[in-house]
Amino acid sequence: MTAYVYDFREGNKDLKDLLGGKGANLAEMTRMGLPVPAGFTITTEACRAYLRTGSMPAGLFAEVEEHLHLMQARMDKTLGDPRDPLLLSVRSGGKFSMPGMMETILDVGLTDTSVLGLAAQSGDPRFAWDSYRRLIQMFGKTVFGVPGEDFETELSAARAGAGATSDADLGVAGLQDLVQAYKKVFHAHTGRDFPQAPHEQLYLAIASVFHSWNAERAVLYRRQERIPHDLGTAVNVMAMVFGNRGADSGTGVAFTRDPATGRRGVYGDYLRNAQGEDVVAGIRNTVSLHDLAEIDPPSYRQLLSIMERLEQRYRDLCDIEFTIENGKLWMLQTRVGKRTPAAAFVIAAQLVDEGTITLDEALQRVTGEQLAQLMFPSFDTTAAPQPLTTGVPASPGAAVGAIVFDSATAAAATAPVILVRRETNPDDLPGMIAAQGILTSRGGKTSHAAVVARGMGKTCVCGAEDLTIDTEAATVTVNGTVLHAGDIISLDGTTGQVYPGAVPVHPSPVVRYFEGELSPAGDPLLAAVQRLMAHADHTRRLGVHANADTAPDAARARRFGASGVGLCRTEHMFLGERRALVERLILAADDTERDAALAALLPLQRDDFVELFAAMDGLPVTVRLIDPPLHEFLPALEDLTAHVARAEALGQDPGRDGVLLAAVRRMHEANPMLGLRGVRLGLVIPGLFAMQVRAIAEAAALRVAAGGDPRPEIMVPLVGTVQELETVRNEAEAVLASIDGAPPIRIGTMIEVPRAALTAGEIAHAAEFFSFGTNDLTQMTWGFSRDDVEGAFFGRYLSLGIFAASPFETLDTGGVGELVRIAVERGRATRPDLTIGVCGEHGGDPASVRFFHHAGLDYVSCSPFRVPIARLEAGRAASAGTSTSDSR
Ligand code: ADP
Ligand code: MG
Ligand code: MG
Repeated sequence: MTAYVYDFREGNKDLKDLLGGKGANLAEMTRMGLPVPAGFTITTEACRAYLRTGSMPAGLFAEVEEHLHLMQARMDKTLGDPRDPLLLSVRSGGKFSMPGMMETILDVGLTDTSVLGLAAQSGDPRFAWDSYRRLIQMFGKTVFGVPGEDFETELSAARAGAGATSDADLGVAGLQDLVQAYKKVFHAHTGRDFPQAPHEQLYLAIASVFHSWNAERAVLYRRQERIPHDLGTAVNVMAMVFGNRGADSGTGVAFTRDPATGRRGVYGDYLRNAQGEDVVAGIRNTVSLHDLAEIDPPSYRQLLSIMERLEQRYRDLCDIEFTIENGKLWMLQTRVGKRTPAAAFVIAAQLVDEGTITLDEALQRVTGEQLAQLMFPSFDTTAAPQPLTTGVPASPGAAVGAIVFDSATAAAATAPVILVRRETNPDDLPGMIAAQGILTSRGGKTSHAAVVARGMGKTCVCGAEDLTIDTEAATVTVNGTVLHAGDIISLDGTTGQVYPGAVPVHPSPVVRYFEGELSPAGDPLLAAVQRLMAHADHTRRLGVHANADTAPDAARARRFGASGVGLCRTEHMFLGERRALVERLILAADDTERDAALAALLPLQRDDFVELFAAMDGLPVTVRLIDPPLHEFLPALEDLTAHVARAEALGQDPGRDGVLLAAVRRMHEANPMLGLRGVRLGLVIPGLFAMQVRAIAEAAALRVAAGGDPRPEIMVPLVGTVQELETVRNEAEAVLASIDGAPPIRIGTMIEVPRAALTAGEIAHAAEFFSFGTNDLTQMTWGFSRDDVEGAFFGRYLSLGIFAASPFETLDTGGVGELVRIAVERGRATRPDLTIGVCGEHGGDPASVRFFHHAGLDYVSCSPFRVPIARLEAGRAASAGTSTSDSR
């Protein structure tokens, strides 16, 4: 029989699939002997069964009852007891943390009779009645969908009636009346009385936690975070502890290191005389965790020692939720904490220094995506005006945009916006995703806005208390300045500063380090990056080349760690002033005219190559022969048609335009992507490829004569059959043989037509290397053209879940990847020493790099900026398998 329920004493931290992250970690802490309230976890499997069938799986009730009995015996309290009731929290918690996305219900078990027991037992009737009204409110909202405003209206009325300014001023009588009013609200919306059977409350709460897995905001969050939709959530049922029992009680959130910078030392927020949900919601202003050292020294010391033990156990940054009830510390949650990209690098390096993890493990603690984020620019503060104010720097980055005050407007905006809110809640998620940055006036580093923004890598400044936000009037007032919706502001998520207007941005220090402009000495982040990159380079098997067309690009790529140019496109060499020569080539009436045009192009191309080979001296440079359709170099059909029509209407001779128009009409293609391009062009326009080959070889010879070490390779695009390649190859070899002083030049092909992948065994006879052009290969495998489809239906496909990610960003391993695997296998069967690379944009995408590593490629080639990311991911792919720590 499947067990659907696990006592906290039975589980452990490795059972996240079954118990969810929260449940597994509560079990781990219980196992470590830490003070965790008694409880049990209902498995994700039970949730999946429930969501599949719509009813609780057989046996679940019996198991829950059994565990509840054990718990009651241990606590010496009983659910619903009119003298001293056991109260429960019913908490969601899936495998991956989804902060605030699902439901948790507190104080389950309070009824008209047990509230009296709680009042008597605690000696604090106010607390008991306040807990009861909170339960009706939370339960009504989450289980029955009662609108929150209706409760808020009653609460305001009660405050007004009692002349109270805050909830805390409401007395027992006021709260008792409020409970009656809440029960009426509940009845009005549900047509039934608030359940007075504690067990009914419990099961309704469990079912509603199951349901909350599919709440709209949870679904959206999973899509954003790429969390699978079929995992389900576990439910944790545990004894309540109370942080709202007076001055010697309170609740807090803490990190074992600073999650923003990685700096060593505990970090967190504490709120006296409050329940946990008050801190997470960022509703009241908290004090620093360090103040707890004065408020409650024994609990503070105990907390520090627990945090140390947790770090040792998890071997990583942990974040925790705790509550102190009348001076007794309780642990309510822990997990490996989310952190900023900078903190991820710094902490990984620290843990190596501390002897906690190996360098291989450290490599698994950082990702290419995080490195990419560190390469974003930030503000040039020397050019910034006086900040309007400074808030809590919750998630780093530099964001500039127009103020919007609500999530819907942010989500609909077409220009960059900053979402400005008093605080955020899970309903704001669409706006948070759409905004460049998030600014709130309330809440600390652990408020909803901060946690979610950090998870998304989005700039966030929170708790900027000087801001007075008036959503109705659509204004925000700060120290006398009034800003309106649409006004531009700049947020610095690294310092917490908020500036009026658009502040200029400057390059990231990590980029400047890669450029060789900054030394890592004395800078913890740069030192960590240097160390982990060095280890990635040492570990990786994949080479990393760059796509670079010009000498300056190639030089930058080299500084960023590229060990070659994997793709030099030659089309740019036909643009600008050289267009006239291409026109001459296309319009040539006979061989003489054509040869003259080619002869004029030759020295220009040769000079380009000389520079490029000099920049990449000693490293391979793979030059692709011209690929795009030639009419791309001619004026647009519409323009020419208009010119010629105007000339004719005026009775003038259209002259050259007329000739051009005829040529453009002749060459017009309905599907240029599938038309006369690549190798087809080389076979149709005599002398074109030969001229390019000659330019490459002559440039190489010149470099050799100058004492250089040029290593060009010639790559033929769009080959579909070996005969095409053989024909080009014969012509190229004849040209190469005619040039003295050039080094040996290898000839290979792109694999970007599905037929080429399938016939790679034959093509390899004529190719010394392959390079996958995964952009074209993706288009042709799926049968859609990128330019046409990305705007047309990709959004829909992503939201329907047909694509987990755009196949142009992350390689479609199931389809396109299968062609890659086939081509590698068949190509190497023919020619075991075949060099194989990839030069599509996927070469710099972290997930795709891992795929190419496993597919056995020799190198990936990507844009210069992504070279460090590919290096890191190639290292991670090679060292994978070492134990990791998952902060999701
Ligand atoms: P989330 O995953 O959104 O953080 P939680 O399940 O952690 O939701 O619960 C929400 C809040 O309720 C947290 O602040 C938590 O500390 C508090 N809480 C949960 N269970 C208990 C409990 N048994 N006693 C006191 N507070 C609790
Ligand atoms: Mg929590
Ligand atoms: Mg291509």
